[in-house]
Amino acid sequence: MKFRTRLFLFYIIGVGLMTFLWAAYFVNFEENRVRTSWHEHELIQAKLVAAYFTDVAQFKDAVQVSRTVARIARVADGRITVVDAQGKVLGDSSEDYSKLPNHSDRPEIKEALLGMVGSSSRFSATLKKRLIYVAYPLRLHGEIVGVIRIAKQQSTLDHLLLRLRVVIISGIMVTAFLALAFGGFMMRRLTEPVLDLKLLALRISKGDLSGRVRCFGDDELADLGLAFNNMAEKLSASFAVIEDEKRKLEVILENLVNGILVIDGEQKIILANPAARDILGLNLKNIQGRPVLEVVLNHHLLELIQEVNIARQAFESELSLYYPHQKQIQVFLAPLKGDQGNLVGSIVVLNDVTQLRRLERIRQDFVANVSHELRTPITSVKAMTETLIGGAWQDQEMLERYLKAIDQESDRLANLINDLLELAKLDSRVEVTDEPFDMADLIGEVQERFITLNHDTVHFTMDLAAEKLPLVDANRDRVKQVLINLLDNAFKYTPAGGQVKISTWQEEERIKVAVADNGIGIPQADLGRIFERFYRVDKARSRDKGGTGLGLSIVKHIVESYGGKIEVESSLHQGSVFTFSLPIQNKLETN
Ligand code: ADP
Repeated sequence: MKFRTRLFLFYIIGVGLMTFLWAAYFVNFEENRVRTSWHEHELIQAKLVAAYFTDVAQFKDAVQVSRTVARIARVADGRITVVDAQGKVLGDSSEDYSKLPNHSDRPEIKEALLGMVGSSSRFSATLKKRLIYVAYPLRLHGEIVGVIRIAKQQSTLDHLLLRLRVVIISGIMVTAFLALAFGGFMMRRLTEPVLDLKLLALRISKGDLSGRVRCFGDDELADLGLAFNNMAEKLSASFAVIEDEKRKLEVILENLVNGILVIDGEQKIILANPAARDILGLNLKNIQGRPVLEVVLNHHLLELIQEVNIARQAFESELSLYYPHQKQIQVFLAPLKGDQGNLVGSIVVLNDVTQLRRLERIRQDFVANVSHELRTPITSVKAMTETLIGGAWQDQEMLERYLKAIDQESDRLANLINDLLELAKLDSRVEVTDEPFDMADLIGEVQERFITLNHDTVHFTMDLAAEKLPLVDANRDRVKQVLINLLDNAFKYTPAGGQVKISTWQEEERIKVAVADNGIGIPQADLGRIFERFYRVDKARSRDKGGTGLGLSIVKHIVESYGGKIEVESSLHQGSVFTFSLPIQNKLETN
């Protein structure tokens, strides 16, 4: 039931009860008052009639008494009866007194004859009506000589009382009705703010904080309304802040490279950011709320999550993932604790360290390789010098052979150190300025040195584009290094009588250069690894030719630093073709 209806119902019951009690009391009070005054009125009339009789002699003439009472009765509106001390009727205003019986048995007469004011209400056998009687003793010289009786119709009094009741009850009813109407109106006015508050509270509970209540006046309800409005205002401000913080956190989590996985106390996933989904290969759409056991398929990670729940303290670990890709993941796990320090879940931070670990391994391999490469020439130089010092220097032939060998080893060491320095420069990404240059010019400059060195053994040709090609947008010295390394390899691995050819052409926005030879070629199995540092197909042959195993890795490094690509095609004993591309100068830049 509505609050307003219930209140109104209580009010109706209250007003009804009050009206009833008030009406009952008032009717009763008024009836008593009217009855009393009626009685007094009759008594006064009786006394007035009694005052008329001043002498006992007047009683002697009954006819005269009858006439007198009849005359008075016309004015007094009632029946007047006069009886003597024995109850004999001396006169009656309504009947012929002579026909009336002795009245000494009438209760009111009896009382009056005893000296009291007698009264009774009963049915009159004479008039066939119910009458109200009042009898007053008539005293003359201190002696009761008769009784004056006044009788009025009960119906007149009843009628009067009925009218009185009707007037009182209808008056009270009208008042009650007005009270109800006014009460209803007031209740409506008073409950309206309460209903407003109720509606606002409902809207707030549904998350709509835009509503406000109207506040009138300065009573408690208005204060309550104001307090409610303030509360809604503060709530909406707080929500805006929370929403803002939430959005920021979401953006951070969305863009974080680290995977974040939050798990609740029931081992269900509360949150998994895109990085976590990516690292763990979680393709399921709605993983929120799903058990971690169903979603994460890696046993090791599940064990770690269990471990953090048992240990209740943060720790770090590393695991290998094989699905969807092979990855090395660093995992930080921490328990999530509630206000009372109870465990409410756990948080897992996943860091993809695959690349880091790979680089670490490469670095370790590189250090091992460098040490190894340096140790070999140094050991042989040391061995040869020790032999010479030991006396071999006296042997002219040995002296010459050893010195040549020491010279060769020194060259190898110098080459190695030069290549290592070159690589270190490239790795440290030292900025070099790019001056656009003509590739044909550079090829012309580089080829001269090879032709003079090998003109008698290997046939060298150049196949340059007929038209002038656009300038290459790169550092000339670095590209020169690329050409030297490729040509050096081509001449090194091509036996006497072979051919080396260099060609250049334009392909879209790039200049392409190919260094081809018909030398020893590279086995298919090694093709994928020849660009690695220190990788050599045939170590002994490379060393004999003064190779370091770093030439192609320097080439790849330089070409790729310009967004270019180096490719190789080779067949064993048939030759190899190394092709690389470089960007041309942007036409807009030249203008
Ligand atoms: P290196 O100093 O040993 O030549 P590179 O990095 O320049 O080192 O080359 C790596 C390896 O690739 C060489 O050891 C060689 O086995 C092979 N290779 C490179 N160029 C050629 C080529 N034109 N013909 C045959 N093999 C080659």
